[in-house]
Amino acid sequence: MTSSARGTIFLESARVVSQQAHDAQQFVLRVAAPRCAAHAEPGSFAHVTCDAAIPMRRPLSIMRADARGGWIEMLYKTLGPGLHALARRKVGEELSVLGPIGRPFVPHPERPRTLLLGGGVGIPPMVFLAERLRRHESVIFVAIADDVTLGFTQLYPSFSSVSVRRLWILNDLFVSPAARRGGVGRRLLERAREWAVETEAKGLTLTTAVTNSAARSLYESCGWRRDDEFAHYQLLV
Ligand SMILES: Cc1cc2nc3c(=O)[nH]c(=O)nc-3n(C[C@H](O)[C@H](O)[C@H](O)COP(=O)(O)OP(=O)(O)OC[C@H]3O[C@@H](n4cnc5c(N)ncnc54)[C@H](O)[C@@H]3O)c2cc1C
Repeated sequence: MTSSARGTIFLESARVVSQQAHDAQQFVLRVAAPRCAAHAEPGSFAHVTCDAAIPMRRPLSIMRADARGGWIEMLYKTLGPGLHALARRKVGEELSVLGPIGRPFVPHPERPRTLLLGGGVGIPPMVFLAERLRRHESVIFVAIADDVTLGFTQLYPSFSSVSVRRLWILNDLFVSPAARRGGVGRRLLERAREWAVETEAKGLTLTTAVTNSAARSLYESCGWRRDDEFAHYQLLV
């Protein structure tokens, strides 16, 4: 386990929540593994102990993860003794799950439209990624030069019910200290604007501290306008 993985891979005794059999010896297994579920990303897999009599764990990709529900789901096709034993596990039984493991998919900063290709055991992580993209959880643009990450911006989808059009909330804009004053923030803001145009959105919104004059002058120099018409409220819970 590398140092960057410490604290992100969990060993859990996971209760079988459901085990659905499908055609061609394929099964969808859902287990309660809250810590794994909270950290799983498309591209993650888990090492599963299929049966107490088979000590070697079997790797299975995580096809779905629900952090709120505390479960992960895996799709597998029985091959040898390990997965055959797994297919015999019943609802309520406990399995040892080690995960999430692996390097998740990272969106390409220059290619916002994603083409997913997978076959065989490569399909379950594609399902995870496809469902996440379909929900449009967020869009991240990353600024990279010579393999060094200089900064990123993250946009969340919203909706204007007045104009019945999509809106994007620019939630994060970060430029590493060494890369500041080099136009990276401006380029990220420009990419966010292009994304709004590509997705036929009404526009973008953001919130910044009134005292953050540096950020405000950057936004304003990129065409952003302070909203003097509407008062913004928040309810913190
Ligand atoms: C990172 C990773 C993610 C994976 N994700 C999934 C997943 O989401 N769903 C899934 O079903 N499987 C997945 N696999 C493959 C799965 O781990 C193996 O099929 C499983 O470990 C086989 O264990 P077994 O005891 O059933 O079979 P074994 O006893 O290990 O093998 C039984 C027989 O099947 C053959 N065999 C084993 N694996 C394969 C294979 N993949 N293709 C063709 N022949 C094989 C062996 O050569 C042997 O002849 C993944 C593997 C890796 C490395």
